[in-house]
Amino acid sequence: KAGRASLAALGLQPLLRSLLPSLAMSTTGTFVFQQPLNYRDGARVQPLDGGHSEDVYEPATGRVISKLLCSGEKEVDLAVQSAKAAFKVWSQLSGMERSRVLLEAARIIREQRDEIATLETINNGKSIFEARVDIDISWQCLEYYAGLAGSLAGEHIQLPGGSFGYTRREPLGVCVGIGAWNYPFQIACWKSAPALACGNAMVFKPSPFTPISVVRLAEIFTEAGVPKGLFNVVQGGVATGQFLCHHPDVAKISFTGSVPTGVKIMEMAAKGIKPVTLELGGKSPLIIFSDSVLENAVNGALMANFLTQGEVCCNGTRVFVQREILDAFTKEVVKRTQKIKVGDPLLEDTRMGALINRPHLDRVQGFIKQAKEQVGKVVWASECGGPASSSSSSSLCALLLGNCTDDMTCVKEEIFGPVMSILPFDTEEEVVERANNTKFGLAGGVFTRDIQKAHRVVAALKAGMCFINNYNISPVELPFGGYKSSGFGRENGRAAIEYYSQLKTVCVEMGDVESVF
Ligand code: NAD
Repeated sequence: KAGRASLAALGLQPLLRSLLPSLAMSTTGTFVFQQPLNYRDGARVQPLDGGHSEDVYEPATGRVISKLLCSGEKEVDLAVQSAKAAFKVWSQLSGMERSRVLLEAARIIREQRDEIATLETINNGKSIFEARVDIDISWQCLEYYAGLAGSLAGEHIQLPGGSFGYTRREPLGVCVGIGAWNYPFQIACWKSAPALACGNAMVFKPSPFTPISVVRLAEIFTEAGVPKGLFNVVQGGVATGQFLCHHPDVAKISFTGSVPTGVKIMEMAAKGIKPVTLELGGKSPLIIFSDSVLENAVNGALMANFLTQGEVCCNGTRVFVQREILDAFTKEVVKRTQKIKVGDPLLEDTRMGALINRPHLDRVQGFIKQAKEQVGKVVWASECGGPASSSSSSSLCALLLGNCTDDMTCVKEEIFGPVMSILPFDTEEEVVERANNTKFGLAGGVFTRDIQKAHRVVAALKAGMCFINNYNISPVELPFGGYKSSGFGRENGRAAIEYYSQLKTVCVEMGDVESVF
């Protein structure tokens, strides 16, 4: 078992060596990440006009681990201009040439998986076990798009008289990626891998809560051989994001975050007629029919609710359970939830770490308090209502709310914490209607042994990512994205190529021009 204490005593030296210059330990025993955290032209840089600074925290301890200097308009412009210059070089390479560089980046990430996962856990609070899975998905994403890069092509279309047309798939230019804090490294890879494979450059702005691991990604791209400036990082919050979105030389914005911010991003993009990809929030349904394999359904419900302490956009937080198995399901899910190990995310056997910060913990607890007042019966609330471990940590134990009804706030709003709402239902027709009765449409899941019912129900679900007899797995080969207020555009799979490239049509005349004049 690693863990904080033993890391300091045993594991830190090897870790330190491989993470330098990112990570150091202060005299008080706190991990600190060294400045600067902006990345431009192939190196870490101080932002030219770094405005106000913000503390960066370790959620598991509440300690300050770094300072963030928010980039102003000038620094954002420098990052965009540097990306623009790199784009000129990168976009001229063949797909195979780009592929080789991306494969090398994937190899380095794979090699440094444990170290990057440690950075992620310290800064985000998720368990080290899960952070490693995130890093695996990240290098797989780079490998996948490296594989596609060489076969990105247009069409040849025959026209009358031997004339013909063809289409060229061209990159867009400088793309902006703006990320949320729940999957910092993975979000950056899901955006940069298809963007770079298509020949674009990217300027990325991570969430100010999790600015660390993306800097490592930028360093890895440089080590792998991308032109300097092809992947730049600017740090900051709302204002920095706005400078990016308004920048006239930005060709596309890919955003992952909340619905209200998504609306603002779209408004800014509209002013510059810039295409956007919006990966927003959700309140997804998980439907468990009485003919399910109970053990699988329980495992699915846990996967759908408690990964990353419940801070997952596509979580199936509305768990509809057919009345015949409600008691058996609830009993089993309570038993399994009680066994989830909550605590220090650096420990190998921890499965739920700390929520991102105290304000978010307070927000989640506000939802829980309100739900307890509204709910018929809270089926299990172990240690709920307070932090699971020390007072400086923002950990929270998982909570199940039984006997919920569709009108409750905890059933309607995205909580983004470890809170599962269980809702009884009777018929297929009823549950499909209730499942779709939401402004969101990110994901949905069905557990049943009836193959026809499974496909019938997912066909009726108004959600972009549906699971049958599973939940919350993320193969990079499958497109991911939402319906309705959960956004549009797709990440992953071949589909993402459409969102990072455009088609040029060339019409070729093989005869003489016939004029109508
Ligand atoms: P958020 O909307 O507060 O912030 C997201 C990012 O946008 C941050 O980098 C933030 O600094 C930036 N930002 C905020 N205001 C901005 C503005 N006006 N202009 C430009 N940039 C701005 O979201 P969050 O709290 O970081 O993340 C949680 C949300 O993200 C949840 O709703 C969750 O469901 C969603 N999310 C969605 C997906 C998905 O793939 N659909 C994945 C992860 C998270």
